[in-house]
Amino acid sequence: MIKVSGLKKSFGDLEVLKGIDQHVCKGEKIVLIGPSGSGKSTFLRCLNLLETPTEGEILIEGESITAPKTNVNKLREKMGMVFQHFNLFPHLSVIENITLAPIKVKKKNASDANKKAIELLNIVGLSDKANSYPGQLSGGQKQRVAIAGVVAMEPKCIVFDEPTAMLDPNGRKEVIATAHDLNKKKGVTIILITHYMEEVVDADYVYVMEKGKIVMDGTPVSYTHLRAH
Ligand code: ADP
Ligand code: MG
Repeated sequence: MIKVSGLKKSFGDLEVLKGIDQHVCKGEKIVLIGPSGSGKSTFLRCLNLLETPTEGEILIEGESITAPKTNVNKLREKMGMVFQHFNLFPHLSVIENITLAPIKVKKKNASDANKKAIELLNIVGLSDKANSYPGQLSGGQKQRVAIAGVVAMEPKCIVFDEPTAMLDPNGRKEVIATAHDLNKKKGVTIILITHYMEEVVDADYVYVMEKGKIVMDGTPVSYTHLRAH
């Protein structure tokens, strides 16, 4: 699904990504960990051209996104993104937040978009909040609405950049369970940046990033593999 070769990114004199070679297969759940400032966000932002790579190639479903003819909007529909801060419009209701992009960008008709939004609210466990406003929701609920909004665009892959950083433990659990369900039940490919070890355990692969390079990758050993003494 994603193939990254020789990816480098500099900001002025500062080389933030120093040559990344990785691939992600369809339906996988990848977790990216590493110290602050190691380039995790920059890496993921390159995947949907929120940052322009300085060197290297990124293929998504076989298409080079670094080619000049790339349709950036189409690419971003394919590669949804969820950030730390909840990207919701405060003056729109939950359901309006979810249907906005499908109606405006995908030109869906309002009734189809609404039907789909209700289905998605069900999936993220918020069917009773359709007519609430973001200000009336907890952090975990807001983030789940944001996720439903991203899923409404039917992306192949969702990139999560510390989606639980602003949340309390309960909110974190809700959001991680939602992401996990999307991956397992809907086959959405997921790449997640996190600092929380408990969010790493059920990944298919973990990448460890340090100083602009991926220095380790492998499958996480879950606690269930440890034997008590
Ligand atoms: P992480 O997500 O791992 O904490 P980032 O990718 O956000 O790391 O940042 C890596 C480095 O790149 C940091 O030193 C940061 O200051 C720098 N950086 C990120 N974005 C920019 C930018 N737009 N301009 C200049 N420097 C940046
Ligand atoms: Mg970051």
